[in-house]
Amino acid sequence: MSIAGKVAVVTGAASGIGRGIGQTFVKAGAKVVIADLNAAQAEATAAELGANALGVAMDVTSESQVDSGMAQAAQHFGKIDILVSNAGIQIVSPLQDFAYKDWQRLMAIHLDGAFLTTRAALRHMYKQGTGGAIIYMGSVHSKEASPLKAPYVTAKHGLMGLAKVVAKEGAAHGVRANVVCPGFVRTPLVDKQIPEQAKTFGISEEEVVKNIMLKGTVDGEFTTVDDVANAVLFFAAFETNALTGQSLNVSHGWSMT
Ligand code: NAD
Repeated sequence: MSIAGKVAVVTGAASGIGRGIGQTFVKAGAKVVIADLNAAQAEATAAELGANALGVAMDVTSESQVDSGMAQAAQHFGKIDILVSNAGIQIVSPLQDFAYKDWQRLMAIHLDGAFLTTRAALRHMYKQGTGGAIIYMGSVHSKEASPLKAPYVTAKHGLMGLAKVVAKEGAAHGVRANVVCPGFVRTPLVDKQIPEQAKTFGISEEEVVKNIMLKGTVDGEFTTVDDVANAVLFFAAFETNALTGQSLNVSHGWSMT
């Protein structure tokens, strides 16, 4: 199993998990497009990774930016073999106070973004005729729920449905779709939540980490960016339709379903 010589587009790759996936993929011999809303950070990340990486400005909620970013990627590296739909945000609030615009923004980034990048990638993959792999960044929240995270939990469950449809439609073209479901990983997305949750629940930040984030794990440990990147690499490199429409928890046992 190898992704050497393959071309991968990773969204939200200027930070956290996406950035780690970019690094892992380049190390594995792939060419990687670092697609992110933060154009300057995407360029900087790509520059760090060298000639096998390209930074592309892409707001995944913009149909025109997604289509043009994918076209730019295919033109620069000659093809698109792998899409990692990873861009995401978190907004926490009790449901009764959740602002509709925050619900819409979160849904747009996670679900509209996954749809638009999938559609654009499939068009390239089908035209190329050499198959492909699409990996969605789910979460333990694709299978479990937590308070304060209504749109996030809803969107992450939704990605499981999208992956299954892509698996069914893509099979005839050798395109596979799977979901990686991490537990808590210390990235800017999680660091932001710790003081927010401490305030909402009226507990210390230490208690948020111990009693909320890591409580359900088997060993009280955070999942790492590398753990997640390696699981994504596995799905990306797997060579047949035997492994499609599936999900894999990488969560120190927080979710076992
Ligand atoms: P992060 O905040 O470190 O990185 C997210 C990246 O997405 C940023 O570079 C940001 O600029 C980019 N982004 C945001 N909106 C965008 C948009 N509209 N278009 C393009 N890019 C956009 O977060 P992270 O923790 O690395 O999260 C990455 C993914 O992993 C998300 O989908 C998140 O839900 C998922 N996830 C994270 C954890 C965790 O504990 N960190 C756990 C499970 C799943």
